[in-house]
Amino acid sequence: MTVGKQQGETTGRTFRRYQDGEAEFDSFQEQIFKAGWSHKCPVYVQRTPACQGQCPAGEDIRGWLDVVRGLDKPPTGVTWQEHAFRRLTRANPFPGVMGYVCPAPCEEGCNRRAVEDFVGINAVEQFVGEAAIKGQYGFKKPEKETGKRVAIIGGGVAGLAAAYQLRLRGHGCTIFESRAELGGMLRYGLPNYRTPPAVVQGEIQRILDMGVEVHTNTRIGVDIKIDDLDRDFDAVFWAIGTQNGRIPNIPGANAPNCVGGIEFLRQFNDGKLPSVPGRIVVIGGGDTSIDVTTVARKLGGFSGIDGEGKPLTYTADMVTSAAAHSGQKVTLTSTLPLDRMRASAREVADARSLEVEILGGLMPLSVTCNAKGVAVGVRFAPCHHGADGHRVRIEGDEIEIPADLVVFAIGQYADMTGLESLDNGRQAISAGPALEVIGRPRHFVGGDVIAPHLLATAIGHAAAAAESIDALLRGETPARRPRIDKRHYDIREGLVENAKPVNGVVTSRTFVHNFENRSTQEVIKADSLFLGHFETTPRIHREERRLADLFARGGERIMPLTEEQAVKEAKRCMSCGLCLECDNCMVFCPQAAVSKVPRDQHAIGYYVTTDYKRCIGCHICQDVCPAGYIQMGLGE
Ligand SMILES: Cc1cc2nc3c(=O)[nH]c(=O)nc-3n(C[C@H](O)[C@H](O)[C@H](O)COP(=O)(O)OP(=O)(O)OC[C@H]3O[C@@H](n4cnc5c(N)ncnc54)[C@H](O)[C@@H]3O)c2cc1C
Ligand code: SF4
Ligand code: SF4
Repeated sequence: MTVGKQQGETTGRTFRRYQDGEAEFDSFQEQIFKAGWSHKCPVYVQRTPACQGQCPAGEDIRGWLDVVRGLDKPPTGVTWQEHAFRRLTRANPFPGVMGYVCPAPCEEGCNRRAVEDFVGINAVEQFVGEAAIKGQYGFKKPEKETGKRVAIIGGGVAGLAAAYQLRLRGHGCTIFESRAELGGMLRYGLPNYRTPPAVVQGEIQRILDMGVEVHTNTRIGVDIKIDDLDRDFDAVFWAIGTQNGRIPNIPGANAPNCVGGIEFLRQFNDGKLPSVPGRIVVIGGGDTSIDVTTVARKLGGFSGIDGEGKPLTYTADMVTSAAAHSGQKVTLTSTLPLDRMRASAREVADARSLEVEILGGLMPLSVTCNAKGVAVGVRFAPCHHGADGHRVRIEGDEIEIPADLVVFAIGQYADMTGLESLDNGRQAISAGPALEVIGRPRHFVGGDVIAPHLLATAIGHAAAAAESIDALLRGETPARRPRIDKRHYDIREGLVENAKPVNGVVTSRTFVHNFENRSTQEVIKADSLFLGHFETTPRIHREERRLADLFARGGERIMPLTEEQAVKEAKRCMSCGLCLECDNCMVFCPQAAVSKVPRDQHAIGYYVTTDYKRCIGCHICQDVCPAGYIQMGLGE
């Protein structure tokens, strides 16, 4: 039980865990501490750190940061970079890709914000991903094949991540992909200048090298029927994403020069969009619409001024391109006001640095077409979003923005041709509590086709669905997913991994008597930590370049940290919810009841142990534990 309040974000940190007067208890339960002894002794309680709680891929972030910072040592003959890579990829086989394009919701959650700033998780992840590409680390093939076969429909990140997780478990996997190449939106949606092709290709190939069968140019529902899959495979995983852009139901929106954002970007990534016309109106406000505007600017001319207002040096190509398209104007409109637009701040800044005009609080009314039915402008009215989230037209003049091309980036839906029996009525597939397709035994689903979100979300679904499929293939009933459905560290695995052979036999404990794992039920927040332990240490920033600069000079948009920087940044992690090995509990225990476990029995999370015969229940160890790993619980 935590008695008292820690000084935190609002009042500034202090080394005091309690305020004056907080030792005066008025409840009976708290009385038991007054005598200086109690029936409660420390229990080591593992909880999900806030970062992992917000990582949609469910990565054991604390675990792989522990490797990078040198707390969790690699086995003999393995570099720490490879050890970190193996720990990270238990959940997510795309660390390099994540390092470039994941918007990192984990960092939003990171408890270190209560000290000074979040841990640069995404930057360290990018370092690990790059090290793996350079080191050519591969995934191991399974030691035993189960003989079971799973059909995976869709070769985007959800399908690929599912293949990876299922191959780890020894199941045969066949990916069916309707397009010529694997990668899904990662290859055909996100503009190709956002992720280095060597990283995308390397991370896909590594999965295929585990022994995954692939059929490209094969559309399930058209080339192969669902019943054929039922006949030939033991289970099916649907990961078909959302390939069609929504077009709004307004007059003129079906003009030939009105397109969906997805289709526009697909053409660009296929190399079929050499140039774009002069005036482009993009309707959206989310990340896809920003990608459309920046691609339009890449293809057209721009002023040659970077984000800091300095002139750019053009390459010969850029000079030609800029000259050819002089007069180009790109306007982005959003129904939300500018300060509430869904696109991330970084993306918006990029669009601005390319002189994209961004207008908020405008709803499209109609597309104005000329006598030939070609769009020449879009009419808008001012609007705001009511309390129920619906947009409402407000007082104010209508405006018309001239356009040679109109791009709608207002949402996506799945192409369910031939798959109508799976359609939930909203051009999507619904998932049950074990990620099963409702009403279709042996079929599972994950990724954008459930609801469009992030790459990391699709990867998280894939890992969870693979666990359900594995259970089914082992003859069990797939269980409802836990409340905190993440790829948690298991202390028992740590104990087994670190076990030393005695007389040639590996014996290892897999049980720790005063330990409890609440990772699937509880996320640990900053107010459960002893923040006074941590020194203020500024975050190390990556070098990021503005798109305008990138287009003119080439290279990468986000530069990885150096090795020294990655280690330093990882050391800022506070190991929320798991032992940090700081020795505080041992040093401060007045009874010398806490001691280190023998080195040959040590594992992350099993570093100290308490002698309950000496413990008087003073709870000092709980108070001084920076990681919030100790809780007064059972005992005597
Ligand atoms: C423009 C854009 C930018 C984005 N930017 C980011 C970003 O920066 N960061 C981020 O985290 N997320 C981003 N996202 C979201 C991210 O791309 C998706 O969440 C992710 O790709 C979903 O993966 P998926 O595997 O579910 O689907 P997809 O990536 O769409 O893959 C589905 C695959 O299934 C194939 N397929 C479809 N139907 C069939 C069929 N019947 N038979 C066989 N194959 C089929 C498709 O061809 C495709 O290859 C972006 C999305 C878009 C559109
Ligand atoms: S995948 Fe995204 S959310 Fe998860 S750890 Fe990486 S950056 Fe954070
Ligand atoms: S301090 Fe470390 S463990 Fe805690 S939330 Fe941040 S990254 Fe995660």
